[in-house]
Amino acid sequence: MSGKEQEYVTEAFLSNYIAPIGPMVDAFEREFSEYTGISHCVALSSGTAAMHLALRHLFSSEYGSQTSSPPVVLASTLTFIGSVSSAVFMDAELRFVDCDTFSWNMDVSLLKEAVDECLREGREIAAVIPTDLYGQCADYDAIRAVCDPHGIPVVLDAAEAMGAAYKGRHAGCGGAASIFSFNGNKIITTSGGGMLASEDKALIDHARKLSTQARENFPHYEHTEVGYNYRMSNVVAAIGRGQLEVLDERVARRREIFDFYRDDLSGLPGVSFMPEAEYGRANRWLTVVEIDSEQAGVDRETIRLALEQENIESRPLWKPMHLQPVFKGCKVYGGTLSERLFDQGLCLPSGTSMSGDDLSRVCGSVKAVFDGVIL
Ligand SMILES: *Cc1c(COP(=O)(O)O)cnc(C)c1O
Repeated sequence: MSGKEQEYVTEAFLSNYIAPIGPMVDAFEREFSEYTGISHCVALSSGTAAMHLALRHLFSSEYGSQTSSPPVVLASTLTFIGSVSSAVFMDAELRFVDCDTFSWNMDVSLLKEAVDECLREGREIAAVIPTDLYGQCADYDAIRAVCDPHGIPVVLDAAEAMGAAYKGRHAGCGGAASIFSFNGNKIITTSGGGMLASEDKALIDHARKLSTQARENFPHYEHTEVGYNYRMSNVVAAIGRGQLEVLDERVARRREIFDFYRDDLSGLPGVSFMPEAEYGRANRWLTVVEIDSEQAGVDRETIRLALEQENIESRPLWKPMHLQPVFKGCKVYGGTLSERLFDQGLCLPSGTSMSGDDLSRVCGSVKAVFDGVIL
């Protein structure tokens, strides 16, 4: 927290709006739209809820009639499960798409292969969900060039990408809808929360209604469809307003942290850093390295355990969805690159509150592994 959040939370308490609606929620949505340039949005209890509502709307408007086989959802395989769990809630068939080498995001040629195959099979594609991995935007324009001719909606999972940019616009611009997360681990947080954003006012209006138990506009409780309890609380929105004000600083600091690691560690054999695609500016939510064990003479897991010995927490990358037991049997287009990244990749400590000394200590511990000092 930066300190500004507390003032807004106090204001929420003084107004006595301790509820899933209120002036802080309205203001947070307004300020989010101003910050991102996305015209409409609805503040929700999580990013996962945002994805669920996006799919609920897209399915209801386009897939009202029952067809024999379920619609397909194509999603990045190198992602967090919150990106794709909603497709399961919607009884869609999930198929996964591998990443590319220059952004580690959805490989557009593999996406095209997937779309072509689904269409050849006569399958409807309800949505394509590319993830902006670790705060770097996928190549939105290239993905839309594949999807738009077939009228396939693209739901951008920008959960990790607050403050990132694609071709000069904020992450999440230009999809049918986009989702953001303010979970505790993200670059800005409300403790837990999410946002669904879109240029499509009807989509956001419908999502807003679904998020509050789909109550119709009557004096009593009237329902013509079933919704959820997914709205963001007024207290939580107060935290979000304070966090939005420090987002630019957070991104600047995360990028500094990335540069520090890169300057200090990229000389080591077999160590490379997550690339930044030319079209955008990543928020560097996490600094991610890849360790080529043959060149390095040491593998990722050895380094992770050595850091843990020093009380330094680091983690493997997201385990690809097509390797998850729960998605056994789901089709994957490509897959070897994300498997390699899962095998060799390491997320380094990247919190904005880390000091220069903290960063030097992490780098020192990594270099010590290479020097064989700890081994
Ligand atoms: C965090 C995250 C989500 C889900 O957001 P929650 O707010 O935690 O529900 C979805 N997709 C990705 C890629 C994420 O990192």
